[in-house]
Amino acid sequence: MSRKPIIAGNWKMHNNSAQSAELAVGIMQELKNEDKNNLPEVVIAPVFTSLYAVDKELKNCGCGKVTLAAQNCYYEPKGAFTGEISIEMLKDFDLKYIIIGHSERRQYFNESDELINKKAIAILENGFLPIVCCGETLEQREEGITDKHIASQITKAFENISAEDTAKSVIAYEPIWAIGTGKTCDSVEANRVIKMIRETIRGLKGDMAADSIRILYGGSVKPETIEEQMAQSDIDGALVGGASLKADSFAKIVRGAMA
Ligand code: PEP
Repeated sequence: MSRKPIIAGNWKMHNNSAQSAELAVGIMQELKNEDKNNLPEVVIAPVFTSLYAVDKELKNCGCGKVTLAAQNCYYEPKGAFTGEISIEMLKDFDLKYIIIGHSERRQYFNESDELINKKAIAILENGFLPIVCCGETLEQREEGITDKHIASQITKAFENISAEDTAKSVIAYEPIWAIGTGKTCDSVEANRVIKMIRETIRGLKGDMAADSIRILYGGSVKPETIEEQMAQSDIDGALVGGASLKADSFAKIVRGAMA
């Protein structure tokens, strides 16, 4: 089954509105001569405060080559949740994906599997698609419990979600020890874990969901690593942090995914 690749840039807590707009324009400029039909789905996830400015630039361009995502959300539609942004509010933007369960949110903001599952359900109910992140720490890898840990994260994240909704969702496998460290996970090993995730989905939701869901690799993806990563049987794209903050390096990764 052929799955449309995704190259998604997670801009994390970088760039104000003007800087984000400039980066978005830079990326579209880099991709202006590429045929849209050959491109992977190119996704960018700015901070909340930059969504308006970036959304405006994407609409101005009208090239349809870049899709907007948010880095987080809260599952309640409104109420006394100081500092949170609801999915309802994200309807102000022409947005398709919402990243949830990033290891930085799990680690620094104590996000649990249960909370991530509530967010995933609410995202799908509201017509958006979740990019569900999972991944093991170095200690878990050294203990030999990588697969068990990730299978558990995935099982909990997709609880009470139908096969149809699972099929449309996206997973990002991001070994925590590879995020922002420059240490990329060996491509064959990343593919093995991603296959294991796909088989977990098969066991939970059946063949259609397992064969349709796109599973990305994330963790120090660079222009030099993407071709080998994309050559693997089960890696459907990349979630890119650091290398997505410069238009030229992000565009090189996008082109590498087309090679
Ligand atoms: C990320 O933040 O999801 C990520 C993979 O970061 P980096 O590419 O910088 O490792």
